[in-house]
Amino acid sequence: MAVPARRTSKTAKRKRRTHFKLNVPGMVVCPNCGEMKLSHRVCKECGTYNGKTVLVEKEEVDV
Ligand SMILES: [Zn+2]
Repeated sequence: MAVPARRTSKTAKRKRRTHFKLNVPGMVVCPNCGEMKLSHRVCKECGTYNGKTVLVEKEEVDV
């Protein structure tokens, strides 16, 4: 429910923020390159999934 900010006590606000999660759920470390990736998805950094290269690396474009 939306409640006006002044109706939420400092204690209630601080208690709510104690269970704030720093890292996004479903993120795992890629076994191939060690970057963070979404689990059950192809790694964006190295293009591998389940030990196989799925995506062919694109040519790098100068910005
Ligand atoms: Zn990777």
